[in-house]
Amino acid sequence: MAEIVTEQKVRFGRGMRRETGEEIAALGRSRAVILSTPHQAEMAMDLAGDIGSASAGLFTGAAMHTPVDVTEAALTHAREVAADCLVAIGGGSTVGLGKAIALRTGLPQVAIPTTYAGSEATPILGQTEDGAKTTLTDPRVRPQTVLYDPELIATLPVAMTVTSALNAMAHAVEALYARDRDAETDALAMDGLRAFAQGLPAVVETPGDLDAREATQRGAWACGAVLGRVGMALHHKLCHTLGGMLNLPHAETHAVILPHATAYNQDAAADRLRPLAELLGGGRPADALWSFAGRLGAPRSLRELGMKEADLDRTAAAAAANPYWNPRPVEQDAIRALLARAWAGDPPAD
Ligand code: NAD
Repeated sequence: MAEIVTEQKVRFGRGMRRETGEEIAALGRSRAVILSTPHQAEMAMDLAGDIGSASAGLFTGAAMHTPVDVTEAALTHAREVAADCLVAIGGGSTVGLGKAIALRTGLPQVAIPTTYAGSEATPILGQTEDGAKTTLTDPRVRPQTVLYDPELIATLPVAMTVTSALNAMAHAVEALYARDRDAETDALAMDGLRAFAQGLPAVVETPGDLDAREATQRGAWACGAVLGRVGMALHHKLCHTLGGMLNLPHAETHAVILPHATAYNQDAAADRLRPLAELLGGGRPADALWSFAGRLGAPRSLRELGMKEADLDRTAAAAAANPYWNPRPVEQDAIRALLARAWAGDPPAD
């Protein structure tokens, strides 16, 4: 029986990836399999070079939405090289693969996030098999150690920087009106939102600004941590539905939907969302988010992400079926209208 993990060690700083060997040793381990996507194989190889003999092997096949067949291939590799721990270097897809292996083996994990998705801070794992996505929450999947290195995220292209940040902010926005929120989760959500509201414009202007990158990574941790502590609502339901049914890109879908889902809820959760609007310069919360995302060049329409207009009816029906708890009741006609606006790239309306 694998140990149940409740604590997480989190470190931030330039060059922090160079502490990986020390952190593997601190876990009492000595043979790590390093995980990455094919796109980040070079980053994974550099890390393997850094940690020397503590690197037992590389698996560079991580893919979006944690397909179970990829997990099985990685598991086979981990067994072949007698791995005793995992190091995931990458975004939510790579961190997800580490979690999926940990679930099956109990191996401890070091996560080195290179996007803002925030998965490393949560006990949540989404996996796909035969086109169906299932999500579970289990404390054993949360990495024991997280190393945030701004030098690594500095290579994230500006467009992905913006969408990934809006993905993180979406966790915090929904945490503000979560049914099970409390004073601590409110503070965590606002810390995360503030870090992005202040730091993201600087990062977009100067992607290599490592101080601003580190500030936004702190925001990503806060947004991920709050995602792991409270229930999500309409925004996440819409994104999961669109991602699952149409395979739309994850962070980009969050970026397009966030102002629209916020508009849907902004009267029902007016008090809860007021601090968000104030943080972004005032006005209605959805308009404030729409302007913030627009200034940073975020994608505006589901159409540009590849969705067909003909998919509006069935995605609206699926999103309204078995809805997550939401401050405003989820009604199919209103959801279809929301999706139609998001599809066309129209401004949000409630
Ligand atoms: P991703 O991990 O799929 O990365 C997208 C692409 O960007 C990949 O090719 C990746 O290699 C590349 N990339 C990542 N960092 C880079 C960098 N610094 N420089 C250059 N290229 C880089 O994208 P994501 O949005 O981080 O993760 C999405 C996945 O994470 C989804 O499957 C989502 O469901 C999951 N997720 C899970 C949770 C959770 O708590 N379980 C939370 C958030 C997201």
